[in-house]
Amino acid sequence: MTIMSSSEKPEKTIIIGAGLAGLSCGYELSRLSLSAEIFELNDSVGGLSRTIWFNTDQGKFGFDFGGHRFLTREEDIEKFFFDVVGSENIETRQRSSRILMKGKYYDYPIKPFSALLKMPLWITVKAGFTYWYAFFRYFFTRRKGEDNFEDWVRNRFGSTLYNLFFYDYTKKTWGMEPRDISSVWASERIKTSNFFSIIKNSILKPDPESKIAMTLYKQFYYPSRGIQVLSNKMAKYIETNHNYIHTEKKLTKLMVERNKITEMIFNENETVTDFTTVVSSIPIPTLISTLGDHVPQDVQTAATRLKYRDLILVGFMLDKEEATSDSWIYFPEDQHIFVRVSEPSKYGGKMCPPGKTSIIAEITCNKGDKKWELSDPELIQLVQSQLMDLSFFSKEEIIDSFCLRINHAYPIFDINYEENIQLVRSYLSQLENLDLIGRTGTFQYLNMDLVLLHGISCGKKVAGASEDSSTQIGHEKKWVG
Ligand SMILES: Cc1cc2nc3c(=O)[nH]c(=O)nc-3n(C[C@H](O)[C@H](O)[C@H](O)COP(=O)(O)OP(=O)(O)OC[C@H]3O[C@@H](n4cnc5c(N)ncnc54)[C@H](O)[C@@H]3O)c2cc1C
Repeated sequence: MTIMSSSEKPEKTIIIGAGLAGLSCGYELSRLSLSAEIFELNDSVGGLSRTIWFNTDQGKFGFDFGGHRFLTREEDIEKFFFDVVGSENIETRQRSSRILMKGKYYDYPIKPFSALLKMPLWITVKAGFTYWYAFFRYFFTRRKGEDNFEDWVRNRFGSTLYNLFFYDYTKKTWGMEPRDISSVWASERIKTSNFFSIIKNSILKPDPESKIAMTLYKQFYYPSRGIQVLSNKMAKYIETNHNYIHTEKKLTKLMVERNKITEMIFNENETVTDFTTVVSSIPIPTLISTLGDHVPQDVQTAATRLKYRDLILVGFMLDKEEATSDSWIYFPEDQHIFVRVSEPSKYGGKMCPPGKTSIIAEITCNKGDKKWELSDPELIQLVQSQLMDLSFFSKEEIIDSFCLRINHAYPIFDINYEENIQLVRSYLSQLENLDLIGRTGTFQYLNMDLVLLHGISCGKKVAGASEDSSTQIGHEKKWVG
């Protein structure tokens, strides 16, 4: 079957994936009056930034795929967000987040100084001693071979602070020992890398220009009816401007001739040939697999070694006004199956019916592992009993619940990922009419703002307005995480 061209314009871009990256690229091309078509595997747009709604006899409840707060340092992207969503639909919210460790709640981001004050004196003394030991050892020896997360953090914080604040959460989130995780992850995510800035940021108001300040920001923006609104509005703009979004279209094969993609096959038998440029935002291993034998064996092997962490969401709709005092809470210890719990009503005022609230728990896992293999009722039961033990709600207050599984939620930066991604990118860069964009599509830990920037920049590049290489954005721009 051949999918007929929906456009008469001579140059057409096919975008694979209708997450924020694909949609923002399509939006920019539409704004520039260029022809674009988006093909999406799911039956709706938004990718990881989706919101699902449940109708109950007590009203409608909305849940993001894990609460999605919007914040950015990029003025143009903030303006884009407001223009697309509409300022009348956006709320500015105060964030309150904590972490539960050894039975006590601490403010998050952790302020090590104030956290240590809540701990027994001997731990505080030991943390101080191991910090200074690590500090001088690092200062004088600048140890070589610091290639993993554990060494990177221990060298800067000492072993006690590492064990207290980093080990459990990192291991649980990524499902691997921190020594098997690349130090690149630590250097890009942990902004507070010297003692004096820890103290400064524990005590003083954050400097709005500093990299550290972003994670400490108390405020964020959120569309009152969930993050899906951003995708829906972009999709509407694209379609209003005579471009197209096809859902339930899974890319299954790409054909290449003389370093150009010439044919695309969706759902095994639907062929598309009328395009000039291809933009991919889908997982890199999936993209590589669609190219079949065109890909050299070493690149195929490298691609299969690029792993993504999967996610299970378990949500509860509740007949009570408030379940926690926080926007979200982290749970680093193994006694809880989830790593984070958030309360959607603390993000947007229209996420629950008046007088009701809800809770969503995020369980990081790998497809096929022990957690993933639990049935939905088993997962709901387990999460429910753990949340009830934490006194967030009682059984009588539950209106309804659900369980949802999400693939490719986070790229995993294991110790060999740089080598693997470079090999794969270098092969893909030979395909002259292909661009990669987004968090999932470029294998970078990008938040929504940089994903939007990626998509928009790629749209401009396709239009010939920019020389930027879209795969570079994450490492050149500041992380907001
Ligand atoms: C739990 C969680 C919480 C988060 N919270 C925040 C937050 O608070 N703030 C923030 O800024 N960011 C947050 N993020 C990050 C944010 O979700 C991502 O940055 C963004 O959604 C990534 O968009 P993308 O388009 O790059 O990728 P994706 O959303 O993954 O889009 C890729 C699309 O490709 C489609 N696809 C895959 N395979 C195929 C195929 N074969 N054929 C066709 N289509 C295919 C997928 O269905 C998907 O729609 C969070 C992420 C997670 C997982």
